[in-house]
Amino acid sequence: MPHFSLTRESGFANHPKDMDWLRTNIPCQAACPAHTRIPDYLGEINKGNYAEAYFINLVDNVFPAVLGRVCSRPCEDVCRHGREGLGEPVAICFSKRAAADHGWDKLVVLEPLYPKTGKTVAIIGGGPAGLAAARELALYGHTPTVFEKHSSPGGMMNQGIPEFRLPRDVIEKEIEQIRRLGVEILCNQNIGVDTTIEELMKSYDAVIIAAGTLAPNILDLPGKDLGGIKHGLDFLLEANETGKSEIGQRVIVVGGGFTAMDCARTAIRLGSQSSVYYRRSRKEMSVTKDEIDELIHEKIPLELMVGPMAYLANGNGTDNVHHMRFIRNELGAPDASGRRSPVAVKGSEFDVDVDTVLLATGQWQDTTWLDKSIAPKVLDKNGWIRKGKPVTTDQPGLFLAGDYSIGASTLIEAIGHAKQCARAVDEYLVGEARVLDVAEISGGITDTGRVPEMDDVPRQGNPAIPLDKRSLRAEVETGYTRQLANRETMRCYLCHFKFEIDNDICIYCERCLEVKPHDNCIVRVDDLLYADDGRITGHVPAQDKRPHHYPLLYIDQDNCTRCGRCEKVCPVECISIQKVTHNTMRTCDVAKVQSPTKNWTFMGTTVADAKGAMVKWLAARDDVVVRREYAPIETPPVPGEGRTVFIRIEFEERITASN
Ligand SMILES: Cc1cc2nc3c(=O)[nH]c(=O)nc-3n(C[C@H](O)[C@H](O)[C@H](O)COP(=O)(O)OP(=O)(O)OC[C@H]3O[C@@H](n4cnc5c(N)ncnc54)[C@H](O)[C@@H]3O)c2cc1C
Ligand code: SF4
Ligand code: SF4
Ligand code: SF4
Repeated sequence: MPHFSLTRESGFANHPKDMDWLRTNIPCQAACPAHTRIPDYLGEINKGNYAEAYFINLVDNVFPAVLGRVCSRPCEDVCRHGREGLGEPVAICFSKRAAADHGWDKLVVLEPLYPKTGKTVAIIGGGPAGLAAARELALYGHTPTVFEKHSSPGGMMNQGIPEFRLPRDVIEKEIEQIRRLGVEILCNQNIGVDTTIEELMKSYDAVIIAAGTLAPNILDLPGKDLGGIKHGLDFLLEANETGKSEIGQRVIVVGGGFTAMDCARTAIRLGSQSSVYYRRSRKEMSVTKDEIDELIHEKIPLELMVGPMAYLANGNGTDNVHHMRFIRNELGAPDASGRRSPVAVKGSEFDVDVDTVLLATGQWQDTTWLDKSIAPKVLDKNGWIRKGKPVTTDQPGLFLAGDYSIGASTLIEAIGHAKQCARAVDEYLVGEARVLDVAEISGGITDTGRVPEMDDVPRQGNPAIPLDKRSLRAEVETGYTRQLANRETMRCYLCHFKFEIDNDICIYCERCLEVKPHDNCIVRVDDLLYADDGRITGHVPAQDKRPHHYPLLYIDQDNCTRCGRCEKVCPVECISIQKVTHNTMRTCDVAKVQSPTKNWTFMGTTVADAKGAMVKWLAARDDVVVRREYAPIETPPVPGEGRTVFIRIEFEERITASN
């Protein structure tokens, strides 16, 4: 069985083995819902190529300068640098912002992938999902029109997230790049009021609902009709648009997500004292660590493990909330979300005086405005949007994108989902899949630019303005300087480089073992473990570690930090370096670059043995088309070792849309 972990040395491949290599070995890119080519752009930043880094991001995630500030960063949660004993994850998000800060002065307008098709698509909702879907469809050659009920596009980017976290000119500039592709954005268009989905379906070839989660979840507690209780979304919209809101001095925020943090930090900027009350522990809060750190830095009290019980008036005839009753919780068994559910501790109730309660307790999809004929095609029998994050509906030509399908999530999840949705719309409009996910493999690399000393560089913090300069509009984080960006990006292990030893050439001199910086980056093994489809799934450590007493040397990608030391000392050049990138290609381009004929030789002690090895290999390679099989060649017998039989084949590798 050949021991290489990819199906080819260079070119494009989408065999399960190649796609699995990407998923397993570049965890940050696999975790990004938009599959952003993270090591590629971190590498560009490190070389000082900020504009290239911005461009890579733009292609993949549509709003790089926005996400560089406020992304929820699922990539950092899985970054290999953050594993136990290796330090902190690479600051992928801060680095992304550096690419925009230092490499994005003029508008960047992408080249369409396909010529104009004449097909039109109506998109309901001008949030990140609606805009991302529009951009993708414009690149596919279609003509999208976005209908937004608010006076400006952007969705929660500007209706929810405060300006001190996300400056409005950054949002506008990235939306302008989408407009320049021919996307029309019509504001003050409330679908369900100004027109209906049915009407849109008559005038457009397809319709996408990307209307977010605008229906607030109001806590059904005693006293809920008192004055002074607002939902956080209404409060933030008012504060973001007008710069003020009547909330009094004492403000309680109930919740533990982005909306809660933003409400509390906005309230103190309006001159109030705010505190956050959350029913679970800090671990269960669905915000980045930096958001909690900033809350604490701004001296906003965070009361954890407390559940709201009732809103209370002061009994002197006013109908305003005067205090709020809470009860202390302890954590019980995990709930459906996997988070441990809070359980109230009897007798631990307490009251807090308050002028305004801001509820940041979640929001749902508003389904009240859907046409009566359309609702059953989109909703389940209980009236909820169907589960499973669907992009399609039971109505041909009607699609869903972003939070309207997946529920309240994050910018990057909404954008990733919208990209999937746009692919489905394109396939519906033209009748075929015109883009394909592939592994783009570049061989013949001799240097990654890394040295082991880079592994010890600590994570660089993001500079911020001092507390006394903070206001509703002043951006808190000021972003990396070029020097900080360079230091941070050198930490990245560049997991998209693959080091591999060709054991048929290796002379087992063990020079690579002498220079390796990590105990387990190169290991002596007795065997490699394979899945049925040919993927290498593990290795069996060698029993006898003496030179020439073990059959294979293996580079464990999980422990390799791409320093290149091994490759430089190898006297027989049997260590190869390839760059492997998850890319989205036009199907027609992939077909054009299909690799030329290759050959492979199978060995055995008998003809049947060698044939058996060949059959097993072919069974695991459904992308291989054998062009020629040569007659077996037998070597003369070697005393004590017997014969060796070789069978050579020539083959082509096929790229299929099905993968
Ligand atoms: C306060 C707050 C802070 C957040 N902070 C972060 C953060 O820091 N990081 C992060 O990753 N995520 C954050 N999120 C979540 C993130 O903003 C959302 O997940 C994301 O915006 C969802 O995108 P979307 O396009 O699906 O929906 P939305 O952004 O909600 O956009 C939907 C759009 O549809 C429009 N619309 C609705 N109904 C109609 C209709 N009938 N006709 C026409 N238009 C309509 C709305 O006006 C809106 O513009 C935050 C959310 C909130 C509320
Ligand atoms: S080290 Fe770099 S490439 Fe590897 S997971 Fe982290 S950010 Fe991604
Ligand atoms: S490049 Fe070679 S020496 Fe460097 S960490 Fe990887 S396997 Fe070890
Ligand atoms: S240096 Fe090269 S030849 Fe020597 S053991 Fe390592 S891989 Fe094999």
